[in-house]
Amino acid sequence: MKYGNIDINEFDIINTIMNNSQDTFYFKDKFSRILFSSRAHSLLWGVDDPEMVIGKSDFDYFPRDFAQQAYDIEQEIMATEIPILGTVEKLIRPDGSTMWLSASKYPLYDKEGNIIGTWGTSRDITSLKNAEEELKLVNKKLEEANQKLKELSVKDSLSGLYNQGYFFEELNKTFELYKRREKICQTNGFSLILLDIDNFKNINDKYGHLMGDYTIAHVGKTIAKRVRSSDKCFRYGGDEFAIILYDTELDGARTVAEKLRTSIAKNPIRFMDNEIQVTVSMGVSSFNEVGKAENMFQRADEKLYKSKGIGKNKVS
Ligand code: GH3
Ligand code: MG
Repeated sequence: MKYGNIDINEFDIINTIMNNSQDTFYFKDKFSRILFSSRAHSLLWGVDDPEMVIGKSDFDYFPRDFAQQAYDIEQEIMATEIPILGTVEKLIRPDGSTMWLSASKYPLYDKEGNIIGTWGTSRDITSLKNAEEELKLVNKKLEEANQKLKELSVKDSLSGLYNQGYFFEELNKTFELYKRREKICQTNGFSLILLDIDNFKNINDKYGHLMGDYTIAHVGKTIAKRVRSSDKCFRYGGDEFAIILYDTELDGARTVAEKLRTSIAKNPIRFMDNEIQVTVSMGVSSFNEVGKAENMFQRADEKLYKSKGIGKNKVS
């Protein structure tokens, strides 16, 4: 074959491909034994000289599972005459290292058009695959960081409970949800407890701000410990807390509040050589008593005020 003053024949072209291409080429008989292998392909098998792999199969070089899978695929290609294009293969090299290949396999025909085996080509995509894995890892870390950030934006750092912004958002959302449920005759309600530490100013004044902060954190922990994990607890003001109790009627919420009140009153808080007895007052309201989310908050707040008025350390 001549092109201008360049003289090159088919044999040279094939030789160039078979000796120099980084992509592998191989031709196999009906039993998946190598008829002809490019240098890149035999190197993949850990053999320098392509002549050495003639007559060998994947079973001679690779783990049985891998070889069997390749064999089955090649049998399938011969039976269906449908090539497989660009499948991603994981290959454990004879030296134990992992390699990712993008492989295509085709039926191999003789001059008369009879199927005599298969042929294929593959490309090393290990670095691409590694970059993909790294990107996946980076994305996962980014997602985790975003999740953490989201969590931080709704959390109060001192008590560990949800913050004020999230409280009013959640109260409104929950109210709307139960309104919709009411329309389809699901009659379960939910309740709200508002809780305020009694004479908290005295703690700050007498023992200092640090003790005050510790008290807030302690009450927050006690609240979270004493309610069901499905309920949500918030600190919505200085010494003011709220609990949303889902699928809980007024009586049930009062019982929870009463248990919480006794638990706090019975367990003194110890911090920096001080031991103080803290009490809390609470007001409880329920979905079935009121018409609006704001009313639910107002009603619980009024009852809290009532508890303060009748001597504190009370649930109304
Ligand atoms: P009452 O029994 O009527 O609730 O009286 P109280 O003394 O608890 O009064 P109130 O609830 O109004 O007091 C809240 C005080 O909490 C006022 C403020 O100085 C203090 N406070 C608000 N936020 C913080 C905080 O983050 N840390 C500390 N240590 N104190 C705070
Ligand atoms: Mg108070």
